[in-house]
Amino acid sequence: MPRHQDSRSPRRERDSFTCIRCRREVPLSSYGTKHRNHCPACLWSRHLDIEPGDRQSPCRAPMEPIGIEVRPDGEWAIIHRCTACNTLRANRLAGDDHELALLALALRPLSRPAFPLDLLGGGGGGAW
Ligand SMILES: [Zn+2]
Ligand SMILES: [Zn+2]
Repeated sequence: MPRHQDSRSPRRERDSFTCIRCRREVPLSSYGTKHRNHCPACLWSRHLDIEPGDRQSPCRAPMEPIGIEVRPDGEWAIIHRCTACNTLRANRLAGDDHELALLALALRPLSRPAFPLDLLGGGGGGAW
């Protein structure tokens, strides 16, 4: 008879999550944070927390990275907006966030300005 006693396999807390955007497996702790909640490759997050790290939000929708905030002490944060409820959330960077993805995010307003840039250069005259 097969003995059946490995029902006591240890239940570990999940220490990684799957990116909702690019399906990458992302460890929850990283350089500089224990509450990583965004993907280092595409920077998308999920609306899981009411307070950082509590995982109490019922929303669970994807959160899109929409911008970079630079804090007074020079630290960068990513601004995420929930695609379902439009909640805005600032998240500290983690040490292994993809630098090019961060730069693309920081430069996004410059690459798609909300007003025509040719007003700056094309003006008439130069009389001075
Ligand atoms: Zn991702
Ligand atoms: Zn939400």
